[in-house]
Amino acid sequence: MGKEIRQIYGEEEMRAFGAEVAQNLARPVVLELVGDVGVGKTTFTQGLAHELGVQEPLTSPSFTISKRYALPDGGELVHYDFYRLADPGIMRDELAETLANPANVVVIEWGGEVAELLPKNRLRLVLALTDDGSRRVEVDD
Ligand code: ADP
Ligand code: MG
Repeated sequence: MGKEIRQIYGEEEMRAFGAEVAQNLARPVVLELVGDVGVGKTTFTQGLAHELGVQEPLTSPSFTISKRYALPDGGELVHYDFYRLADPGIMRDELAETLANPANVVVIEWGGEVAELLPKNRLRLVLALTDDGSRRVEVDD
């Protein structure tokens, strides 16, 4: 998508943005979502998942660390949230294995601690809350 900045107003628009990004994805794809708790990372991922054909509702993986959803054309959407993980090292092998399958779409929230495991060509979205309550999203690829 190149480098661009979006202003997103409301949850529905964030889901629509997730869907738009899904339409433009060329696999293999690793998406790193950066931004504070409550900024909309999981909401974005819901829109992305729906557009990729995930039928079941996507919920936050913050307690389970990861959630996996089968994709209609093979592979899985694998959604990680490392926020509560004191030692991301224990996820290294699983993450590496997931990343090694080019059919997967991998979305990572709070990936800072495992950044060196992530491919350099990942799509990185930096989300921030703005004064009026909308979200600013910077797309970096
Ligand atoms: P995160 O995964 O970054 O912690 P969530 O997606 O779980 O954030 O939560 C975002 C919360 O903010 C939701 O309750 C959502 O309804 C609300 N919200 C308000 N405006 C927006 C917006 N523009 N984009 C995304 N979420 C928004
Ligand atoms: Mg989240």
